[in-house]
Amino acid sequence: MSAPPPPRLNGLDPDALVDLLRRHGERDYRGRQLAHALYTRRIRSLDEATDLPRALRAELESAHGLTRLREIHAQRAGDGTTKLLFELEDGARIECVALPRSTGRVTYCLSSQVGCRMACVFCATGRMGLLRQLSSSEIVEQVLELERRFSTGTHPNLVFMGMGEPLDNLQALLPALRILTDPRAVGLSARRITVSTSGLVEGIEALATLDRPIGLALSLTSPDPTARRALMPVAGRTDLEELLSVAAEYGRRFRRRVTLECAIIAGQNDDEDTTRGLLECARRGPFKVNLIPLNPIDAYGGGRPPIARVHAMAESLWREGIVCTVRDSQGREVGGACGQLVHRRRRSAPVRPEPTSGE
Ligand code: SAH
Ligand code: SF4
Repeated sequence: MSAPPPPRLNGLDPDALVDLLRRHGERDYRGRQLAHALYTRRIRSLDEATDLPRALRAELESAHGLTRLREIHAQRAGDGTTKLLFELEDGARIECVALPRSTGRVTYCLSSQVGCRMACVFCATGRMGLLRQLSSSEIVEQVLELERRFSTGTHPNLVFMGMGEPLDNLQALLPALRILTDPRAVGLSARRITVSTSGLVEGIEALATLDRPIGLALSLTSPDPTARRALMPVAGRTDLEELLSVAAEYGRRFRRRVTLECAIIAGQNDDEDTTRGLLECARRGPFKVNLIPLNPIDAYGGGRPPIARVHAMAESLWREGIVCTVRDSQGREVGGACGQLVHRRRRSAPVRPEPTSGE
């Protein structure tokens, strides 16, 4: 696995920029000017930061530089859902997805790693292994690039559901989340951001230390610990009871329902026992459930369940008072090597209207 490049200027929060410019012999207001240029004006090049002296710009460019993402492919579906493939400075590639909503808001699905080491059997990214971590600037710049293209003038929703396990890259994720939610930087609402995890307990606890109400989604997949371990090797690391109680604690602390996500696989976890198990899990805390019909991948024999079966599961949960949505997989039009989200969000089909706010 290769190391990520060091964070560039656009991966530093406003305080770190002030410190850095002090080390260049500059007064504090210069750091604030730079933060404004990077995160409010969203400059692509230091040449555009014309309020900074030319010599300082040249010095900053040669010492630190900005992370830039090179778009190498974009694929747009009929409803406007667009998948972008970006190349990073070392040639590694990541995917992001922009999903316009009928509300006029847009959701961006972001990557946190190149590949993933969690090896979930049904996931295309898992099959790649972990090629490298992303740096904080590579995470932040995904949002800025997407905003440059798709901004609707209102704050976007961000979901970390693209490539990678975000809580396996805390070193970059936490600073990136600080920059994204800092009113002096990108200034997005924490309530519009959701981090999805395969269930890394220490990572959830670390996310809570940010002390911002960032949404959490936990990929439960199966309520049965043995079945879960077979589908998600990472499940062998943690006791499911403990995981659910840490997730519940997170939800209570930030007064946000945590989403239990389940990729539903034909003949594996689409039965009544699973539904009963999900119900038990969902009652353990402030949880809602997302059922995601599997988007089959070549490297895994599992198939997509009949959609009626998934809706029947959702109906059963609703009857018991559990908020549940089904994400229909209509995104094949724009492909989805990693982009589960493409398949999951394009036709987000709540069985009933969701009463909760946020994502
Ligand atoms: N690593 C994080 C976030 C990225 S995966 C996590 O696992 O939560 C985002 C979601 O896509 C997870 O809930 C995962 O279970 C789901 N997913 C992965 N592969 C899928 C597939 N082939 N079909 C449907 N959902 C899938
Ligand atoms: Fe990694 Fe998430 Fe895919 Fe599992 S589902 S391999 S944790 S990206």
